[in-house]
Amino acid sequence: MGATSLRGLAAAPGVAVARAWRYEPPRDGDDRLGLDEASAGAAAALEALAERLRGAGREDEAGILDAQAMMARDPELIAAVRRHIDDGAGGSEAVLAAGEEQAALLAGLGDEVLSGRAADVRDVAERIARAMRGQELPRLEERSIAVADDLPPSITAELDPALLAGIALEAGSPTAHAAILSRALGIPAVVGVRGLLAAVGEASEIGIDGGAGEVVVDPDSAARQRLEFAAAAERDRRLADQGLRAAPLATRDGHRVMLGANIGNPEEAAAAVREGAEGVGLFRTEFMFMGRSSAPSIEAQATSYASVLDAFPGRPVVIRLLDIGGDKVLPYVHQEREENPFLGVRALRLAATNRELLVGQLRAIALAAEGSVAETWVMAPMVADLDDIALLDGLVADAGGPWSRVRIGIMVEIPSAALLAERLGAAVDFFSIGTNDLTQYLLAADRTNAALAARQDPMHPAVLRAISAAVEGGRAAGIPVAVCGEMAGDPVGAVALVGLGVDELSMDPAAFGAVKRAVGAVTLDQARAAATAACQAASAVDARETVARSLGDAAEHDHAYWYDRGRKALE
Ligand code: PEP
Ligand code: MG
Repeated sequence: MGATSLRGLAAAPGVAVARAWRYEPPRDGDDRLGLDEASAGAAAALEALAERLRGAGREDEAGILDAQAMMARDPELIAAVRRHIDDGAGGSEAVLAAGEEQAALLAGLGDEVLSGRAADVRDVAERIARAMRGQELPRLEERSIAVADDLPPSITAELDPALLAGIALEAGSPTAHAAILSRALGIPAVVGVRGLLAAVGEASEIGIDGGAGEVVVDPDSAARQRLEFAAAAERDRRLADQGLRAAPLATRDGHRVMLGANIGNPEEAAAAVREGAEGVGLFRTEFMFMGRSSAPSIEAQATSYASVLDAFPGRPVVIRLLDIGGDKVLPYVHQEREENPFLGVRALRLAATNRELLVGQLRAIALAAEGSVAETWVMAPMVADLDDIALLDGLVADAGGPWSRVRIGIMVEIPSAALLAERLGAAVDFFSIGTNDLTQYLLAADRTNAALAARQDPMHPAVLRAISAAVEGGRAAGIPVAVCGEMAGDPVGAVALVGLGVDELSMDPAAFGAVKRAVGAVTLDQARAAATAACQAASAVDARETVARSLGDAAEHDHAYWYDRGRKALE
């Protein structure tokens, strides 16, 4: 019988084959320790663990554990536990119930990032319950791949990194903390693998390919060989990417396109510089506002923005105004329940009810820009027309300056903005095209609805034509046009965009190498011809094939490309 192969979401690249180690949540048992002592002990242990990780340069993980230490002392959690005890639950049982309640609340908000925080709360509650029951924390005895429904972050951090070969989770998303932690540790991870626990059962070994999102249970020799090829491909790809770090993003005949990084928090700026970013094309600031009970102060925001600007002396850094609403909610921003949040009070539209939040953010950006040697660019999301630009101008004026050194631009992500590009371009300093939303709105396909995934390809000729209109409008107005949606980080999409004439591509730095290889494989004329043909294609599939053909050998997805190379090497 062949090995069972399961599909999940690629959360951290890399390949591993090792014993399966199953994480077990706390067992039932009698309480030996009181709530106060156990929660204080858990908080102290989490702080000590954070300190240890910080000392090892694992700053991201340390931050998560610090936040968890605060959760362990959170009076709201403790009060909820006491309510359960008053209702008759045993101590540790009450802790688990209260933790579950808070986690369900966060998970129910429908936000990927906040759902990630749900796992953190559950983790803290389990830690306290274990302490109350006198149960040891689970540990690795030999090199293993951790398999769990969801792996709590503090457990992940406590597992010996020398023995942890990978992570496979039945639940979770690529933004869950276990995924972030495994990327920080450089170990492969696959999450959201339906049926994982049942399939692994008592299996002794599993293999994972974190780049492809694959888990193989009890790999046979064919599966092992395939995973070995993938591992070799991954190593080659990393080496090739490293070799390209200093290379510009340019076509084969030397047409340069600026390479920007998309970042979600200030800590990512340094890594973006290391990977060769020439600036930040999109700083999604809303993540700084999430997972907290109130907005960060203007001073704290200014410090965060300044730290990103400082990382890019003389280079542009695009700070995007808060994009709240749609699938992102903040507990402290009041919003009415909406039937269609993506068509509702989102982003700039929040100015009607939460003007101070946006004005305060602009104030913080002006403060950061004042002492900065970077170029500060401010960008408004979800701009539909000239009225929205007037709204933006009003917010900027209310925030006070100085604005003389700051460029103010907009995202082109609502179809109306693409149609009005020339008029809008005359009123702002730059455009950045948000292909994620542009695709969802143009094709009326909710970007969070997995059932519509096939309808969300930005290579759809209608989307390509809208992009072309935005580029032409920007050009007529004499302003630069960037693309910061996921399409910029897709090798085929990037070639189409270069062909359509965009000035900058901004993406997750992990995509830099693949995009440089693809764009470097064509001349500007080839990219233009492919993009023009793609605009005339009958469908997204045709358009994608048209552009991919222009790439010849470099067209294959990097993974498939290197996999083939590995196989040929063995023939
Ligand atoms: C986009 O819509 O393409 C974009 C870059 O913004 P976000 O994904 O944050 O909505
Ligand atoms: Mg968007």
